[in-house]
Amino acid sequence: LTRTGQTDPSTPTNEQEFDRSRAVIPGGVNSPVRAYGSVGGTPRFLASASGPYVTDVAGRTYVDLVCSWGPALLGHAHPEVVAAVQEAAARGLSFGAPTHGETELAETVVARLDVSGRRALERLRLVSTGTEATMTAIRLARGATDRPLVVKFAGHYHGHSDGLLAEAGSGVATQGLPGSAGIPAEIAAQTLVLPYNDLDALDVAFAAHPGRIAAVITEGAGANAGVLLPQTGFNAALAARTRAAGALLILDEVLTGFRVDPAGWWGLEQRDGADWTPDLVTFGKVVGGGMPLAAVGGRRDVLELLAPLGPVYQAGTLSGNPLAVAAGLATLRLADADVYARVDAAAGAIADGLEDVFVALGHAVTVSRAGSLFSLAFRDGEVRDYDDARDQEGWRYRAFFASMLEQGISLPPSVYEAWFLSAAHDDAVVDRVLQALPAAARAAVE
Ligand code: PLP
Repeated sequence: LTRTGQTDPSTPTNEQEFDRSRAVIPGGVNSPVRAYGSVGGTPRFLASASGPYVTDVAGRTYVDLVCSWGPALLGHAHPEVVAAVQEAAARGLSFGAPTHGETELAETVVARLDVSGRRALERLRLVSTGTEATMTAIRLARGATDRPLVVKFAGHYHGHSDGLLAEAGSGVATQGLPGSAGIPAEIAAQTLVLPYNDLDALDVAFAAHPGRIAAVITEGAGANAGVLLPQTGFNAALAARTRAAGALLILDEVLTGFRVDPAGWWGLEQRDGADWTPDLVTFGKVVGGGMPLAAVGGRRDVLELLAPLGPVYQAGTLSGNPLAVAAGLATLRLADADVYARVDAAAGAIADGLEDVFVALGHAVTVSRAGSLFSLAFRDGEVRDYDDARDQEGWRYRAFFASMLEQGISLPPSVYEAWFLSAAHDDAVVDRVLQALPAAARAAVE
């Protein structure tokens, strides 16, 4: 609004932006869930972001509980991260040659994945997206074992490569799809999809395909069909059974890595007394501090199968991009114990508040939590696997989401996504979210 109370005609509305983008970009978006398809309404076209806030083109500011789907652990546009990127940009945008920063980032990641002397990584290669990281991990596992099959869990999302979209979470779950068109049956048949948290199903799969399973890939904690907490000991049992079968365990920490703990979900479990190591680990999101950067790491003997040392090919024009590396290094340098404590506290307060408002209304919901990640399911009872996640009155989220947005809180536009917080979500911001919850909960249960 202008000072006279009139809408400024030069300020675009989100509706105008959406109309314009739909005329040139499929669905108006460059990643499906952004289109608000399952929650309705017009996506907010963002103009800027700072700390815990995002501001749309129309000039309205929201508390942001998406945090770019994970990367913004420190809050948006942290001044030191922005300065690091600006300094890197002034030195050149992309070289296509090795740089000092890449080594430093790899050293930092390897050093972080060390809990009481137990190390998860020996070597690390940088790529640009989580999809590339998991795709490379699968190729490495096949190259290392000379076996064709991969096991994934229903409701887990590992990016959009052909072999990993079967019963995937995230946008595939939001759209209610079994997978994707365009994937030949021969390729889909190389992926065995099992129910999560079900070791018997894993034993059956290994027995049914002796010597043919190259890898089991699992999210550290499932967070793409809402939060699916691994049962105590599940990941350790996966590591043991996978090793016994001569296959590799790929731990996908693209979402959980450097977000739930300085050493990711693996680190959180080790600190809780677990004792297991994955063969390969994938990272993305926080490790790039908001820039396109991801990584695959793990055992030296497996990673050294990569070209130029070995026969497994992988490459990238923008791999290890200096701006992305600068953002990742600055983010990891700043992500100290205090940051994790603040994110945990904010997540705990909001997750508890969420539970409380529905209890007060006498309406059963389940708030699932994995460290600082949590999600809401409109069902009574634990959410252990993808079947449970889908067995809910998910349509209620539409009214809940709309009410929160109306009150200035931007939630993930899908009931199947976790809520993300940052160290910039201080008490005042958390209070704003808590204040908005009762009206949203009432709207959801009406
Ligand atoms: N793996 C997990 C666990 C993810 O959550 C995601 C993205 O949400 C990916 C892989 C794919 O990463 P990207 O979107 O960077 O390709």
